[in-house]
Amino acid sequence: MTAQIIDGKVVAQKVRDEVKAEVEKLVAAGKPRPGLATVLVGDRVDSATYVRSKQKACAELGIESFGHMLPADAKQEEVEELVTKLSADPKVNGILVQLPLPSHLNEEAVLQKIRLDKDVDGFHPINIGRLAQKGREPLFVPCTPFGCIYLLEQAGVQIDGANAVVLGRSNIVGMPAALLLIGKNATVTVCHSRTKDLPGVVRRADILIAAIGKTEMVRGDWVKPGVAVIDVGINSKPDPTKEKGYRLVGDVNFDEVKEVAGWITPVPGGVGPMTIAMLMKNTFRAAQIQNP
Ligand code: NAP
Repeated sequence: MTAQIIDGKVVAQKVRDEVKAEVEKLVAAGKPRPGLATVLVGDRVDSATYVRSKQKACAELGIESFGHMLPADAKQEEVEELVTKLSADPKVNGILVQLPLPSHLNEEAVLQKIRLDKDVDGFHPINIGRLAQKGREPLFVPCTPFGCIYLLEQAGVQIDGANAVVLGRSNIVGMPAALLLIGKNATVTVCHSRTKDLPGVVRRADILIAAIGKTEMVRGDWVKPGVAVIDVGINSKPDPTKEKGYRLVGDVNFDEVKEVAGWITPVPGGVGPMTIAMLMKNTFRAAQIQNP
């Protein structure tokens, strides 16, 4: 069996085209143009790259972006004050605080300052709390797990009643992905660094979401034939044939697993492009909520 490749670039572009068209309609109807504020604290190269990509996506989709940068030694009060100011700014519909924050800062306290209806990253404790409760709806769902579920649904994978295994329990990916799957009636097992017999657990999965950050750890003989595999991992693997000396690979051994799985996302070009697309979707939704 050779798996169907789920092309995240194509799906993400479709989402972006839809958001762009919706933004145009909104503006044509005389409503304010949606706006996203980004907050970057410190000088992490990867964080700066992510923020730039998010601003570029805004420009392409007709969403205004307001970039804010604070130094790596910014004080807790400074960051909280900025977020509070953005929460009160009517031009700002969505606020994205790029994580991780420098370690001296209290991340949860900063996220709590984001007005709930501007929490386009979905990390406000109340939005996460609602995601964890039966019958409650968060205003926004964290972008990467939202993208994972969207890819499964677009591929036509049956989630209702499926056995799903999520590798990783981070606040950003693993836990919200597991909660979303439970909300869609999957039976979910969440694995982490203390899980015993990982291959044995993974082998029971009809749906596997891998988000552990371990190079190609999931092997071909770990998975059940026909499983739907969403690989969130982004790892660099030495590759002397590449100019940079490395290439990006996932948490799943793509070449092996694609021979057994029913569906699989590649790395790059799978979940990666979905994260920003879902952020754009959330920002548009925030504008709709704030300017009904
Ligand atoms: P993280 O915060 O480092 O969490 C990793 C999780 O994996 C933890 O729960 C950890 O368990 C678990 N884990 C680590 N080693 C393990 C092992 N050997 N066996 C089983 N579980 C193990 O990572 P993250 O932020 O969720 O990111 C995960 C991966 O996704 C990374 O490669 C990251 O670059 C990628 N990512 C991609 C996107 C995207 O847009 N595509 C977005 C976010 C993240 P413990 O809890 O026990 O420590």
